[in-house]
Amino acid sequence: MKNIIFATNNKHKTEEIRVILGSDYQITTLKDAGIDIEIPEPHHTLKENAIEKARTIFQLTNENCFSEDTGLQVEALNGAPGVFSARYAGEEANSDDNIKKLLLELNNQPNRKACFTTCICLILNGKEYFFEGKCAGKISLTASGTNGFGYDPVFIPDGYEASFAELDQKVKAKISHRKIAVSKMVEFLHHFNEPSTNIF
Ligand code: IMP
Repeated sequence: MKNIIFATNNKHKTEEIRVILGSDYQITTLKDAGIDIEIPEPHHTLKENAIEKARTIFQLTNENCFSEDTGLQVEALNGAPGVFSARYAGEEANSDDNIKKLLLELNNQPNRKACFTTCICLILNGKEYFFEGKCAGKISLTASGTNGFGYDPVFIPDGYEASFAELDQKVKAKISHRKIAVSKMVEFLHHFNEPSTNIF
């Protein structure tokens, strides 16, 4: 089993990524590593925010680590909330506030197409690598379900009739933006870990 630091304080993301990674890799969270900081997300792209988070932790630990930044892009809102998904309804907003604002903005809007994007930045032996995952779907008319987190109660993935928050989390772990991005990273790590290039 190999260890890698995940540069986040988000318990939901950590839980989802642990399930996706299975037993091959063990995640050390910032809390596990004794790092008590809130990493800012000041940039205008998911990639730049992911870089900021991973570099901050690499500079503190000098250890292999990865970060991720995720956004929800809504077609009828020209890609909003996008990189600003966490603060859509204001700096102090929580997920309920963000969902409320999103449903209000989409009031009477027939085009409800949306997409989650996750960008991962992995720092391995000081070098940076990027992996992206997307999950297409639509925004429901009302929030429903209690699983997951964030915008899950209003996001219905393509091919399903229920929101991520209504679906079993095993389904999300198979088809989500995060699953796709993490799988790409795992594939990359497997190659790095072939006997001649073992980095862990
Ligand atoms: P960040 O990646 O932590 O900046 O997340 C941006 C916003 O999107 C936050 O409001 C999160 O709660 C939300 N979010 C991130 N990932 C997901 C997801 O998988 N499902 C639903 N909402 C998410």
